[in-house]
Amino acid sequence: MRHANIALFIPHAGCPHTCSFCNQKTISGHSCQPSPDDVKQTVEKALSYLGYRAKDAELAFFGGSFTAIERGYMISLLEAAHPYIKNGDIGGIRCSTRPDCIDAEVLDVLKRYGATSIELGAQSMSDRVLQMNERGHTAEDVRRAAALIRGSGFELGLQMMTGLYGDDDDGAMYTARELAALSPDTVRIYPTVVLGGTKLAKLYNEGKYQPQPIDGAVGICAALLRFFYEKGIDVIKLGLHAEEGVGRDFIAGAYHPALRELAESRIYLDEAVRQINEKGYKGKITVLCGEKEISKVTGQHRCNIEHLRSISCAATVKPCAGIEKYSLVIEQDF
Ligand code: SF4
Repeated sequence: MRHANIALFIPHAGCPHTCSFCNQKTISGHSCQPSPDDVKQTVEKALSYLGYRAKDAELAFFGGSFTAIERGYMISLLEAAHPYIKNGDIGGIRCSTRPDCIDAEVLDVLKRYGATSIELGAQSMSDRVLQMNERGHTAEDVRRAAALIRGSGFELGLQMMTGLYGDDDDGAMYTARELAALSPDTVRIYPTVVLGGTKLAKLYNEGKYQPQPIDGAVGICAALLRFFYEKGIDVIKLGLHAEEGVGRDFIAGAYHPALRELAESRIYLDEAVRQINEKGYKGKITVLCGEKEISKVTGQHRCNIEHLRSISCAATVKPCAGIEKYSLVIEQDF
């Protein structure tokens, strides 16, 4: 079961690089560094609205590269959180960081203060793509950091991107396979968006970078979601949040507030078309799906139904208990 996150953003703090796509202030929507008092206030507030569910929640330090921030400051934030973990008020601490900012020593520090989960921004497993996007680490850094995190008993999260400068869909699938081989507990997928003030914006304005269109991102994200699902790996996020900052600084790229729904809808459309072609169905058909999946199978503004109509199938979608996620049972009506 997925746990709640009590999120606290550490915008761009400690990051020794500026990746091509990153305008961390915009992505997190926050520009001030939180203080230990902010940690306490955030947890207290969460305790009041989460109630008993807070016991399973993790305080999540997101946004920057947590293990790269000035050590005294990092420890002051952990110290502020630790009493709540010791008392069992919250379940642990989650943080995100860069693969080259993980070593045995910092993992010891995190463990001492009750950290439970670490997410690594891998973004790509191609050294060429990593270099083109000025990530400042290699694919081997991701493998090494992931093994250390796993070996120290933390939950491992990995983040990847699609549509990066110099990458393509085959590259994204390669990254997914390489990440799956590291046995993460969770994955986040971020299609690239071009934000003002980034190197990508410059490349885009000079005509040297063409971002993935929404439809292209939906296609590759559908393939990635299905791939990770079949591997038993939970994709806990797809696409950036609908933060105001992203809207303000957005220049181009695959940003859509309902990207995950569009991608899941595409999985169902592809599956329906595959079965229809395989079985040679025409005319009226009934499409049976999981009970909560009807809107995704139907598609936004009934786009999947319309597509099936364009290949001569008039589909009625019905829920059916016991049908697995991303699966469909299609019957020809007579
Ligand atoms: S490592 Fe993370 S925080 Fe640092 S520049 Fe890259 S994306 Fe931004």
